Amino acid sequence: MRMPRIVVVGAGISGLATAYALQNRIPTSEILVLESASRIGGTIWSERCDGFLVEHGPNGFLDTKPSTVQLSIGLGLNDEMVCALPAARHRYLFHKDRLVWLPEGFWSFLTTPLLSWRSKWAVLTERFRSPKSGDAEESVHDFFRRRTTTEIAETLADALVTGIHAGDPKLLSMPAAFPRLASLEREYGSILKGIKYQARHQRWLTKGKQRSGSSGSRILSFRDGLRTLVETLQSKLKTPPIVGAEVRRVLPDASGQWAIQGPGQDRWTADAVILTCPAYRQAEIVADLDGELAELLGGIAYAPAIVVALGYRREDVPQSLDGFGYIVPQRLWADLLGSQWCSSIFPGRAPDGCVLLRAICGGWHRQDLASWEADRLVEAVRRHYHQVLGIAAAPVFHRIVRWPRGIPQYHLGHLERVRRIEVRAGAHRGLFLTGNALHGVAMNDCTEQAEVTADRVAAYLAAAGR
Ligand SMILES: Cc1cc2nc3c(=O)[nH]c(=O)nc-3n(C[C@H](O)[C@H](O)[C@H](O)COP(=O)(O)OP(=O)(O)OC[C@H]3O[C@@H](n4cnc5c(N)ncnc54)[C@H](O)[C@@H]3O)c2cc1C
Repeated sequence: MRMPRIVVVGAGISGLATAYALQNRIPTSEILVLESASRIGGTIWSERCDGFLVEHGPNGFLDTKPSTVQLSIGLGLNDEMVCALPAARHRYLFHKDRLVWLPEGFWSFLTTPLLSWRSKWAVLTERFRSPKSGDAEESVHDFFRRRTTTEIAETLADALVTGIHAGDPKLLSMPAAFPRLASLEREYGSILKGIKYQARHQRWLTKGKQRSGSSGSRILSFRDGLRTLVETLQSKLKTPPIVGAEVRRVLPDASGQWAIQGPGQDRWTADAVILTCPAYRQAEIVADLDGELAELLGGIAYAPAIVVALGYRREDVPQSLDGFGYIVPQRLWADLLGSQWCSSIFPGRAPDGCVLLRAICGGWHRQDLASWEADRLVEAVRRHYHQVLGIAAAPVFHRIVRWPRGIPQYHLGHLERVRRIEVRAGAHRGLFLTGNALHGVAMNDCTEQAEVTADRVAAYLAAAGR
């Protein structure tokens, strides 16, 4: 029997982790990863310049889901992993022209100036509110407003959405964007009851096991940045990914195999093909195969994210920067969605005597920023830092990274759209779709889905006798 051949389109974390998981499941297979860009990693990349370590995309991953931690351990990266510094526990919200601590526990919640007593009372009594009847889909804004108050929907829920999706809480679907929170209401009748029950269960599960530091979730990365993860994945693949290989079309051929076409004469064949590139690229690739599938994929909207990393001399920054950074509510339509204080989060992000701050600009409401010139972006961020952090001095370093279609938006109807996408894709035997546009935008979701997809592909090949 000949070796099964699998082509994976896209070498972001979804593509690399899927290829690696498949290689572990079917060691006799031939797996080829095709990447259109000149490097692997997709939105994950870390660049060292002038002693600063700038993340181009994600800054870290949480240990609330095990998938990325387990993948890293499996790759032998334990000693390279770094945990966020204790101060990074604190997060701030830009509120009434100043930074206010986001509550971290019961007492900080009771005393926070972010919320009125009415809202605090609504949270304390949330467990007594009846759960929603029926299964009509709700936006993130409507979900929080129904469970608590409009004020909470406009402050805390907005902050949650801004920090993860850079989207509009009134457009994003609660069960698609925050499935875990939405399911707490279904399973326990209340979000708070569910969180409490799950925390107790987690403590019971980890009883006796060693856990470092605080009991809350931890943010992780690697000594040399997240690039370590994608480069290690790349190095573990038997056949290295081919960069500069853009896939234009996939079509079944007469022998029942997949013909994968690139520009010009580039051609590959495979028993199974896995598309992990962004949904709008998947749409182009399947356009000749299945117009309806292409339309469903092409309908997933994206928000731009522009990273403006500025390095300062420590002495030029009057603030202690003791925290993760701050979020700017989207309803302010500000030039910044927020700022991450990179050198306060992980060690080794700035040279001695300097700090590194990373502003994320754009988002759903400020798509105009994607076309701003570099100088204008730097100026806007500097103005904000002057107002909020009191930094008047010029940065000693700057780096801008643009993601014009950075983060997929799980708008109302997303779950139904994904269901239809999967039904249509399932009709094309040997074609599989994954990536951050379908089941979660965080790195953890991508690595989790990589395992799910590898299982499906392995089962398909076994059933097909390949
Ligand atoms: C600014 C920013 C900050 C973020 N912060 C965090 C964070 O802190 N924590 C977190 O967990 N997540 C974060 N995310 C989200 C997370 O980074 C992404 O969801 C995840 O990395 C997506 O991985 P992916 O492989 O699915 O897609 P991508 O990284 O987009 O990879 C897709 C790959 O497909 C390639 N490709 C496209 N078209 C073709 C084609 N036709 N042929 C071949 N290849 C093709 C692309 O070049 C790319 O390399 C952030 C995202 C951004 C943009």
